[in-house]
Amino acid sequence: MHELSIAQSIVDIVGQYVPPAEQERVRTISVRIGAMAGVVPDSLQFCFTAVIHQTPLERASMEIEHIPFTVSCHSCSCTSETEPGIALCPLCGSADTEIASGTELQVVSIDVDEELTGAS
Ligand SMILES: [Zn+2]
Repeated sequence: MHELSIAQSIVDIVGQYVPPAEQERVRTISVRIGAMAGVVPDSLQFCFTAVIHQTPLERASMEIEHIPFTVSCHSCSCTSETEPGIALCPLCGSADTEIASGTELQVVSIDVDEELTGAS
């Protein structure tokens, strides 16, 4: 399953920034997912929960920020949201566009508790 390996790599990224001893203090992991990233957010959320089960990250939650697919048009200089995968400018119909957003799949922040506040 695609999302499972993505969830695993998110956990790996957290591991690169947060030492193992501090991982149980991780509260929120924010990720940004573009409409064209090919990820089903619900499925990723589900896989993430499975991956962190019985690890120091078990109490962390993942926050998903959805990024719409947008193209910026060279003909009319507009950036507009459009149907994922269709790189035509929705305003003037030009195909002279480039993808402005929507392909992201990145960890944007890791929120770690200052102190370990009692076990819940
Ligand atoms: Zn245009």
